[in-house]
Amino acid sequence: LALSGCSARGNDTGSGSSTSGASNVQIKKGDLIGVALPAKTSQNWVLAGAAFEKSITDAGFKADIQYAKADGPVPDQQGQIQAMVTKGAKAVIIGAADGSQLGTQVAAAKKSGALVIAWDRNILNTENVDYYVAFNNFKVGQLQAQALLDGMKAKKPNGPYNIELFSGSPDDANAKVFFNGAMDVLQPKIDDGTVKVVSGRTSFSDTNTQGWLAQNAQSRMTDILTKSYTNTELDGVLSPNDTLARAILTATKAAGKPNPIVTGQDSETASIPLIMKGEQYSTIYKNTTEEAQAAIDLVSDVANGKTPKTTEDKNNNNGVKIVPAVELTPVLVTKENAVEAYKGNSTLEDLAKQG
Ligand code: BGC
Repeated sequence: LALSGCSARGNDTGSGSSTSGASNVQIKKGDLIGVALPAKTSQNWVLAGAAFEKSITDAGFKADIQYAKADGPVPDQQGQIQAMVTKGAKAVIIGAADGSQLGTQVAAAKKSGALVIAWDRNILNTENVDYYVAFNNFKVGQLQAQALLDGMKAKKPNGPYNIELFSGSPDDANAKVFFNGAMDVLQPKIDDGTVKVVSGRTSFSDTNTQGWLAQNAQSRMTDILTKSYTNTELDGVLSPNDTLARAILTATKAAGKPNPIVTGQDSETASIPLIMKGEQYSTIYKNTTEEAQAAIDLVSDVANGKTPKTTEDKNNNNGVKIVPAVELTPVLVTKENAVEAYKGNSTLEDLAKQG
């Protein structure tokens, strides 16, 4: 049974290194599905392992789930993917530790006939990725920036506003897309003088946070406060996720500054109480269970010979092609809508209700 999940090519005669679909991939119940996750740099990754275990087992496949170790994640993950291929995995789902360092491993996976899915983070500079399953990352950035503007305006109706920008880790392809989405909203406000980035650091390379590590964001914030804010008020900070938002708030507190408006992402359980108290202004809800399920639905579609429904989004251009994507919709969460937004997720809903 030769299955084709390929819509764009319209045939399934391609080689293992097909560029736009899952030609020649054969998957059946009981087959092994490998899931290679990065280090647990935020809570969503912690949740992902269990979510995949359940969705893979429920769909009738066998799961092999691996995390890259925090210390030296790239070679660790490369080895894990290679091992999955050797064990005969029929699909390899990858949350890349470094999206530009997996060319050899995904080429080996495709050559073995496996379906290759980039999960949450895109895999760059290779033809050998069939699909990308993620939340709309550009939209995440737009929502964060709009929340920053709204939060500052609610506190102080008239600008100009002094802000600082933080972006994620440069080895994560998402980080730049989040930042580009945010700048899509912020750049016009910088240009018209409504907001001012006092440190002058407005590019991705001047704002990024290596390894998504809290200590890196905290020390950068401390440094900026010392250099640029001794006699200046800081109104807001664009933070790309909750882990970094809390680190930024630790730095502003330690510097004795009034609480700025700070954005976030991931709906981490450590941040929801801060949001309800008004210390962190916003977060983004990306339901990890649904995101894992979307990848396994895709695997099931290919197994059943169905063509998955995908989107072509230029933000998913990996340098070689726009990877056909299944994109989920992120939800902005503030104190105002938290209880409503987390309905159906009792852990988060309860935290929001506790206030
Ligand atoms: C994820 C974010 C997460 C970050 C750090 C990104 O790729 O999309 O949700 O905050 O990695 O782990």
